[in-house]
Amino acid sequence: MTKRALVTGVTGQDGAYLCKRLIERGYEVHGAYRRSASSDFWRLDYLGIADQVKRVPFDLLEPSNILRAIDKVRPQEIYNLAAQSFVALSFEQPIYTTDADAIGPLRILEAIRTVDPSIRFYQASTSEMFGKVQETPQKESTPFYPRSPYGVAKLYAHWITVNYRESYNLHATSGILFNHESPLRGTEFVTRKITSHLALIKHGRTTPLELGNLDAHRDWGFAGDYVEGMIQMVQADQADDFVLSTGEMHTVREFVIRAAEVAGFRLHWEGEGASEFAKDDAGNTIVQIKSEFYRPAEVDTLLGDSTKARTQLGWKPTTTFQELVEMMMIADLDRAAKGILRV
Ligand code: NDP
Ligand code: GDP
Repeated sequence: MTKRALVTGVTGQDGAYLCKRLIERGYEVHGAYRRSASSDFWRLDYLGIADQVKRVPFDLLEPSNILRAIDKVRPQEIYNLAAQSFVALSFEQPIYTTDADAIGPLRILEAIRTVDPSIRFYQASTSEMFGKVQETPQKESTPFYPRSPYGVAKLYAHWITVNYRESYNLHATSGILFNHESPLRGTEFVTRKITSHLALIKHGRTTPLELGNLDAHRDWGFAGDYVEGMIQMVQADQADDFVLSTGEMHTVREFVIRAAEVAGFRLHWEGEGASEFAKDDAGNTIVQIKSEFYRPAEVDTLLGDSTKARTQLGWKPTTTFQELVEMMMIADLDRAAKGILRV
């Protein structure tokens, strides 16, 4: 029997990669998207699967719409990737972020209870829940300490997923994923902000790349590897919580330096803190620190221990940090050369 999956957040980075993997595995894939005048499926186009994903209007804020979408599709599996996913914006829009990211998943769980409790559910949880880290590296049993409205909202969603698993015996899984990036990452996130701006500078833009905290450490993996882990979690006999991470940590500064090398810039750093900047060999300012990109509360370091996923699911990442930076930088240089780079 062909399996049906409902993927929310289908217009986002992970939604696109996940749909592609599910299609390759023979699933009938329904992509739940937020309808607007500018609904944009460019990522599905980029992966060549736009015609193979059936589209379902869906909003995390609208309980009856969620119920009808699930009732109409009758999927065996729901992957909830939809969210207000940008940490910085969550400080500006904390109430909206909480409604979408905390109560949104609860609305889906309630709809599953009502329509068909045998539907398997995946919740896109995040390493941001570890925030001010209580141990290093972080694993499933590490205490949480979120540092943003986004992290707090996602922590509610994590616990309500666990609670519905334990209360109603739902196959509800929380995947605690460390940062994962790709050429399909939104340009507001630091990795893609770096590669897209450097590509534009390479092709004539004269304004420097403006960044905040260069010393933040992240455990960055490739999104294509991580969506495979989501599918494996949902196929497990028992629903559970799993961390996905590379187990390697790098700074924002390292990302900038490596991406600049790939783009053909050698950076020379001057100044300190909020006055720091970097010039290239020709003396042009390429990177400039701007205090507006610092956050009210920062997550300084994140480093994951994904031993549980590796041993129980057989999951492992296949892309190194160097390969990830190169892949993203080359993709943006290519887009800039063709005049199709959107930031
Ligand atoms: P994106 O920001 O690329 O995608 C988010 C998706 O959610 C978009 O399709 C967006 O639609 C949709 N969405 C936003 N608000 C609503 C709403 N009210 N109703 C319906 N859909 C909505 O995120 P990623 O693909 O990178 O991440 C996927 C999930 O994984 C997110 O939940 C994120 O928080 C989580 N996560 C991501 C990590 C990462 O490093 N990428 C790490 C850990 C967790 P639209 O196009 O209309 O805005
Ligand atoms: P996050 O880990 O989900 O917050 O992912 P981001 O890519 O948005 O940010 C990763 C880290 O980069 C955070 O510690 C940010 O403070 C840091 N950072 C430094 N400068 C910037 C910037 O200009 N934009 C963003 N998005 N992050 C920045």
